[in-house]
Amino acid sequence: MAVGVFDLFSIGIGPSSSHTVGPMRAAAVFAGELKESGALDRVASLRVDLYGSLAATGRGHGTMTAVLLGLEGYHPEVILPEEVEERLASIAGTGTLNLAGAVDPGAGPESGVALPYGESDMILHPLTVLPRHTNGMKFSVSGADGEVLHEATFFSVGGGFIVREGEEDAARKELEESKKELPLPFRTAAELMGRCASKGLGISDIMFINERASRSEEEIREGLLHIWSVMEACVETSLKREGVLPGGLKVRRRAPDWHERLLKETKDQDPDYRDPKYWQEWVNLIALAVNEENASGGRVVTAPTNGAAGIIPAVLYYALHFAPGMDKATQADRDDVVVKFLLAAGAVGVLYKEQASISGAEVGCQGEVGSASSMAAAGLAEVMGGSPAQVENAAEIAMEHNLGLTCDPIGGLVQIPCIERNAIAAAKAINAAKMALWGDGTHRVSLDEVIVTMRETGKDMSSKYKETAMGGLAVNVVEC
Ligand code: SF4
Repeated sequence: MAVGVFDLFSIGIGPSSSHTVGPMRAAAVFAGELKESGALDRVASLRVDLYGSLAATGRGHGTMTAVLLGLEGYHPEVILPEEVEERLASIAGTGTLNLAGAVDPGAGPESGVALPYGESDMILHPLTVLPRHTNGMKFSVSGADGEVLHEATFFSVGGGFIVREGEEDAARKELEESKKELPLPFRTAAELMGRCASKGLGISDIMFINERASRSEEEIREGLLHIWSVMEACVETSLKREGVLPGGLKVRRRAPDWHERLLKETKDQDPDYRDPKYWQEWVNLIALAVNEENASGGRVVTAPTNGAAGIIPAVLYYALHFAPGMDKATQADRDDVVVKFLLAAGAVGVLYKEQASISGAEVGCQGEVGSASSMAAAGLAEVMGGSPAQVENAAEIAMEHNLGLTCDPIGGLVQIPCIERNAIAAAKAINAAKMALWGDGTHRVSLDEVIVTMRETGKDMSSKYKETAMGGLAVNVVEC
């Protein structure tokens, strides 16, 4: 299927879309196939191989535990954070994996196979990169006689998307075919602008028309409002959770204190009123809250990745509370803003997926935080009344000033620099939208040019700076 807005904004668990969500999804697919093959009952042993970036930063990103949950049959969209804790405690306590037990929830956990599991069953190859992508993983199960019953290799290519080895060309072909079914397909910003001009429509309208190829209007609207409600719930949960983030870096959660302070600063005002004087603090707060929740393995919306999950909610929050005229907006107006914002941001996300990458392991943090900042800038410019050219300009400005951003998280954890980086990138997105809206849409560098530059910069970037925790902050800061 062609990439749509619901692929770019999917619900999952933290801390990483490529290192947690993708591997869990791949392992769950493998478990489902195994069950369907009828060979599940004969499985006596399991072997998992993790390659490249998955092996290098997998521990900090929760890859190993995500794979175990996936092998039990859990999918990132549906598993609850409580279930994660409960299942991982059980696996650790019993040394047994309930292989494929959750593939069909209606069948009950006893439908799986209790398989002894030890750390040595998962082998890490941080220095080996498989040809297709640095985030490679191989699953294999054998019977008591050593016969391989099922095996498969997958790649987690960013944003929770997975590709199976050997099916890359078929997947690409299917994608190209499915795009033909879209009423207004586009691959580049130039094509998108052309569609807008020929139809006299905005960017969010083009995206909406394309989405209608696979869903009704109500489903699109309800689906996008649900995405926003999950973003809001993520913030709400985070604001109640104090203490230190997991992983050993001793990073304190700041969002609850900041929230309290903001409420104190404005205590004499209507609790729903947001004083424009504090817009920056609110944006920072939302970004921090989402990313702290993500870092603790909570429920987040991948937007378009988990590491960059705080930027779009923070900028959308700004649009809903601080954009001109929003003080008089009705609930229906606010819902319109959410839908329009996410559609325009999604359209720009498609451009990054089509022409470059949203995987930090492939192109560095510019592909994650940069893409999210660019998407958010487009969303904000759209809901603030920007023309297609101004929206494109906003997206371009935001990415231009994220070019070269490296991924070197300390300890391989999605905490430093990731959490604060989301707040900074949200502010950049807001500034980019404002700059674009004060122009007339004409600009020297096109969005396509900056996307290609991001891709090429990513290609040239040393692998030390692409989610391997082997360079930059990861080696220059003492972990404890
Ligand atoms: S530095 Fe950026 S790309 Fe790397 S894990 Fe953090 S947010 Fe993701």
